[in-house]
Formats: sequence, structure tokens, C-alpha cells
Amino acid sequence: MPQSPVIVWFRRDLRLADHPALDAAVASGRPIIPVHVHDTELGGKWALGAASRWWLAGSLRSLDEELQKRGSRLLLRSGDTAEALRALAKECNAQAVYFTRGYEPFIRPFEASLKGALGEDGVECRRFGGHLLFEPEEVMNKSGEPFKVFTPYYKTCLARATPRQPRPAATKLDAPAVWPESDALEAWGLEPTKPDWAGGMRETWAPGERGAEARLNDFMKTIMRGYSDTRNLPDVSGTSRLSPYLAFGEVSPHQIWHAVCAASEAAPEGRKGAESYLRELIWREFSYQLLFHHLHLPEAAFRPEFNAFPWTQNEQGLEAWRRGRTGYPIVDAGMRQLWETGWMHNRVRMIVASFLIKHLLIDWREGKAWFWDTLVDADLANNAASWQWVAGSGADAAPYFRIFNPTLQSEKFDAEGGYIRRFVPELTKLDSKTIHAPWLAAPAALARAGVRLGDTYPMPVVDHAKARAAALAAYERVKK
Ligand code: FAD
Repeated sequence: MPQSPVIVWFRRDLRLADHPALDAAVASGRPIIPVHVHDTELGGKWALGAASRWWLAGSLRSLDEELQKRGSRLLLRSGDTAEALRALAKECNAQAVYFTRGYEPFIRPFEASLKGALGEDGVECRRFGGHLLFEPEEVMNKSGEPFKVFTPYYKTCLARATPRQPRPAATKLDAPAVWPESDALEAWGLEPTKPDWAGGMRETWAPGERGAEARLNDFMKTIMRGYSDTRNLPDVSGTSRLSPYLAFGEVSPHQIWHAVCAASEAAPEGRKGAESYLRELIWREFSYQLLFHHLHLPEAAFRPEFNAFPWTQNEQGLEAWRRGRTGYPIVDAGMRQLWETGWMHNRVRMIVASFLIKHLLIDWREGKAWFWDTLVDADLANNAASWQWVAGSGADAAPYFRIFNPTLQSEKFDAEGGYIRRFVPELTKLDSKTIHAPWLAAPAALARAGVRLGDTYPMPVVDHAKARAAALAAYERVKK
């Protein structure tokens, strides 16, 4: 009589190393059936965006390869997740389903109902952590409330026990006697074909656990030491670019935490960079705990007075922003980097978000929706918390009245204009003084660089000083 297998349901935990649910399945000694379910309904309005779907396809392929090296494979099923898992359990006589818990508002009731449904079938359903260093229920302030301010949250996290050590991937996974049927990945249409807009993303990224490992090693070897200085410079490779890997769980935060700590102990000159980096990792935890305790975070202002903000309907402005045609080079470079590569540097994310909200007075939810569709690292917690942070409506947010001047930001963080030149090629020949604000350049300088404003490159869609005044006036309404 063959042993009843354990189903491991993979969702945003697409790795084999440091995977508590998979480790528990291995420890059970039973055959394992790894499965991913393509369910376009489960996320509701938070179903994966186009760039994330592209990423997912690569990541599932990579996970399957890694499983095959260990004598296993990834089963693909589609449709309603609960029905698919129940049907699979019946088909292969599995008596247990293990998975990694999620934190999005839609997944929590789902996980509870899945447990109930599987329970009715006599199937054990166990959920495990692994996506976060600290579970959101665990870190509370002295009054037992969730934190709303980052610094005390951060300090409390640091004062807790060191996050557990990560575990290596199993070298072998027991297969069932007979593999159940699987969908073909290509049939899901996750990747674009006509047109195929993913060329820039293929050049930039290698989704999957091996890609994450390579990024992490590269970060520790070449970036970490200078991270606290380079992290704000979009023209240099000064950050880890691990965000999509973290968003899809191809690396765990525990793996990163311990690798970075070990690297900094081995080479103490890297300590400052390591501390600054781990602080960012805790910002991720902070976003997750905000989302966990405030389910409306992706849709409504955390500070309710901001729900009365007088946003404008500005379709033209929104389209210029999305396409990188605002006439502000640093904003356009960021929006084009996003479109071409599925990722944007954090400093520039702040600049473009501020521009949309405070220069164009467009609702932050519009920006968040565009990011959701175009980012390979789209992550409901980080995306919602960060947009609200820039808007001033979030927890511990930047004050609304602090309005970025995009030209000064550009001069400060892309002083030579290298980032702009990479993504806005029509401005390549402008020198590093004029490139930040071409509308202020002398006609002869523009002519020499082959720039015709309003023709080869747009005039600014708004005047900074007027936009600033309008934003402050709108903010007065919120204050009242
Ligand atoms: P690193 O500097 O190498 O940081 C390491 C890790 O720390 C990141 O991978 C990320 O997981 C975490 N991290 C870094 N900065 C932040 C932050 N400010 N908040 C929360 N976690 C952080 N990040 C996403 O992962 N998904 C999103 O959808 C997302 N949307 C954003 C929207 C806006 C408007 C802004 C301003 C920021 C957003 N961020 C988002 C946060 C941040 O920009 C990215 O995490 C970061 O740029 C990823 O690059 P990296 O991996 O090289 O970062």
C-alpha cells in the first residue's frame, strides 16, 4: 500500500531552501506533491499585474527545475484554489496539505476557509511562517497595540531574539508512486506574446532561487560596504535588487538577515552598510504589520482626514506620467526604467510618486495601481505603505507639505545625469548642468544637443512653483 503523500501548496514562497512548510513535509517521511495553483479569482482586485505574471512564469519554471534535481517536480493546477487542492488531495489520497501563510487581506479568510474545507474531507491543513522575520501578531508596543511609528518598531524588533537560522534545501524529495496530471505552464498565458514587451525584463532579471542567490552574493561582495551612501544613487548599482525575489519568496528574509550579518562580522568595514540594509529589511516587516493590522491600507488613507483630499481628474497628466513624458527628466527616466525593466530605484520611486501626488494632484491610488501592474516586485504591503508614506496619509509618513522639487532631487542624486541619459536617450547630449531642467537651457545649448522642446522632448506638464502652491492649498482643506 503506497504511503499517503503530503501536498505542499506553493504561492509566494517559490523556493526550496529555508521553507518551513516544505521542511515539515520532508520531516514527515511521506512522499511530497509540490503544487502551484493558477487562480485568477483568489486575489480579487489584487490579482497579479502583468509584470508580476511574467516574473511568476520564470519563477515557476525555475522552481520546477530545482525540484527535478531532487527527484521531484512542480505540479500545476488551475481554477478555484480550494477546489483544486481538495480535488488533488482526493485524487492522490493525500491526508495533509502544508503551505506558507500569507498576509494580504484576501488570503486570511481564505486560509481559514481552506482549513475548514479540507477538514471536512479528513485532510490535515497546516500553515507555516517563513515570509517574514517577525509575525505581525508578535511585535506590539507596550500597550499591546500595533506600532504606527517605524523607529520604536525597529528598535523593538532588534531587541527581540535574533531571527532563527535559515535551513538549507533538502537534497532529495520523495516522489509519489504516480504523479497526478499537471497543466502546461504555457497554457496559462502568463507571458506576453503579441506584443512581447518583456525583452527589457528578460535582459535585467533571472527569476528563481538561483537568481536570488546570485544577487545576494553580489550584494555582499560588491555593494554592501558602500550601501548607506550608494543606496540613494540611481545611476549606480548601489542596492541589492532583491525586492522581486523577496516578493515571490525566492529568498527568505532569514537567509538575507544571517548572510548579511555573517558578511559584516567577517569584514567589519561592511558593518555600516549591513546595518543600514537590515533597517530596510525591517521597513518591509513594518509595511507587512501595517497591512496586517489595517486591512484597508491598499484602498483608504491610513490617516482618515486624507480621504477628504481634493484630488483632480487629470487623465492627460496621468498618461504623461505613466509614459515618462512629463517634461521632468528624472521623473521620465524613472517611469521609463519601470516600463522597460519592471523595476525602479527607490529614490526615484519617491520622486515620481511625489510628482504624481503633489505636482499633478492625482490620487495616490492611481499611481499604486500603475506600479501594481508594471513592477516585478509588486507587493501589496510595500506598495500600499510606500504610496501612503509619500502621500502623507500613511503611518509615520513624510509630511504632506514637504514637496520634492524634482529638479533639485535630480541634481542631488543623479548629479552627472547618467541615469537620465540611460532612460531618456533624446536628452543624451545635454551636459550635466542642463539635463535636469532642459526648459531652462539656452536655445543654443538645446540646438547643439538636438533637443527641440515640445517636439523631441516635452515641455514640463506643470510649473513647479505653481504646482507646489496648489498642493499646499489643497492640503489646507485636509487640515481643516
Ligand atoms: P534595497 O535597498 O536593496 O533594500 C532591500 C530590501 O528591503 C528590498 O528588497 C525591500 O524588500 C526592502 N525595502 C527597501 N526599501 C523599502 C521600503 N521603503 N519599504 C519597504 N521595504 C523596503 N517595494 C516592494 O518590494 N514592492 C513594491 O510594490 C514597492 N512599491 C513602492 C512604491 C513606492 C511609491 C515607493 C516609494 C517604494 C516602494 N517600494 C516597494 C519600496 C522600495 O522602493 C523597494 O523595495 C526597493 O526599491 C527595492 O529595491 P532593492 O531590492 O534594491 O532595495
